[in-house]
Parts: sequence; structure tokens; C-alpha cells
Amino acid sequence: MGVDLICQEKGKVCSFDCIYCSLGETTELTAKRRVFAPTELVARELKKVKGKVEADVVTFSGTGEPTLAQNLGEAIKVAREISGLPIAVLTNSSLMTREDVRRDLARADIIVGQLDAPNEELFKRVSRPHEKIVFKDVIEGMKEFREEFKGKFALEVMFVPENKNFSKEIATIARTIKPDEVQINTPLRSSPVRPLTPEELDEVKKAFKGMNVQSVYEAKKAEVKKVVGLKKLRQLKRPKA
Ligand code: SF4
Repeated sequence: MGVDLICQEKGKVCSFDCIYCSLGETTELTAKRRVFAPTELVARELKKVKGKVEADVVTFSGTGEPTLAQNLGEAIKVAREISGLPIAVLTNSSLMTREDVRRDLARADIIVGQLDAPNEELFKRVSRPHEKIVFKDVIEGMKEFREEFKGKFALEVMFVPENKNFSKEIATIARTIKPDEVQINTPLRSSPVRPLTPEELDEVKKAFKGMNVQSVYEAKKAEVKKVVGLKKLRQLKRPKA
């Protein structure tokens, strides 16, 4: 079950503007945290669907970077209390340099971070981050979080033609972060970038030998149903006249 804490009328709010993003261009590129969807709204919606939806995990992701939501920690706590389920957060890792973000993320059970480049130059080309986000700081932030975090920490690497020849360098950095798992991915959903073929991804996978690796072409797909759509959430967020 997915929770979108960003959910803005105007579109995607993110600290990155990844070239492969299936959500299209980032409408607001920012590194500043604020409250987008109030925690009370999340609590109300989760109570509505409780018992009506079969789920094994509540995942915070959605239309942008979930750690930009200042109420992420609070929302994780409420989601766990209401659902009784483990909590996962999918993050681009850009704000793990911040102590408040690491504290919020530490409340979850599963974190999936993102690593798509081995250096600043490729980071700027593939992830197109906000100007305040520096590649080596993001890596340090991830290492610090990994040290502190007691749950499962997975690292997702999205391979596209631009970074496919850097798998060895990316794997070297991934080893220093020491994730529990590496998820090797390529954009199979609608994306402006061509996905790698199974053969190309197999080649890339070799660089991660010795690590616990899951490749998107081998992964079992979970069944996904939309419970509350973006339109409905927008209506719910509108204050009553
Ligand atoms: S971090 Fe995620 S939401 Fe943001 S631009 Fe990249 S793929 Fe899209």
C-alpha cells in the first residue's frame, strides 16, 4: 500500500530531475523540507482503507521525494499504528546528509536508497540534482545512515544507457555503503529513456558479484491496486468552504 506525502496539484516535487523519471519533468526542484500532505489526512485515509485492502507493507514514495516532507517521521509512526504493517520508504538519498531526515527514516523498517552514478559529473547528468546537493555528501550521508539504521537497507541502482558502462565504479561505491541488498533496475515503466535489455542488465549485474543482488527482470511482480487516486486526494485536501 503506497502513501504519497507530496501529492501536489502542480506536479512532481523532487530534489532530483532524473533523466529516466516515469513521472515526467520535476515541476519544483527543491532541497527544502516542508509539509505537503498533513499527517491527519494520511491518518484519515489509512483508517478508511484499513481492513479493506490486502497489503503486507506500507510504502512511502509517490509524486516526488518523500524525505522533502517535514512530517515524514510522524507520518511513518501514524501509518504503523493504524495499519500494523511494516513501513518502507523509497528515497533518492539526497537528504540523508541531514540529521532530521536520518532520524525520520530510522523510524521505518525498510529503506530503499538510490545510487545511479559513481561521480559528480555523471550524477549531474543522470540525476540532475538541485544545485545544493553534492554527490560526495550524498554518499557520506548514506554511509552514516547505514551505520545507524537497524532495519533493512536496500540500494536501488537504475541503469540506463548513460550509466551502463560505469557499473564497476558504482558497485565499488555500493560496497562501501554496505547495503543489505542491491536492486538492479532499468526503467520498464513509461520513461523518456530506453530501458536496458535483459542481456545488458545481466552484464551490469556481474559488477556486483558477491553482493546480495536482485535484478528487475528476475524479480517477482507484486499485484498493485489503486485505492485512493491523486484526484481524490486533491479533493480531500481542499479546505471546506
Ligand atoms: S528521484 Fe525519483 S521522483 Fe525524483 S526525479 Fe528521480 S526518479 Fe523521479
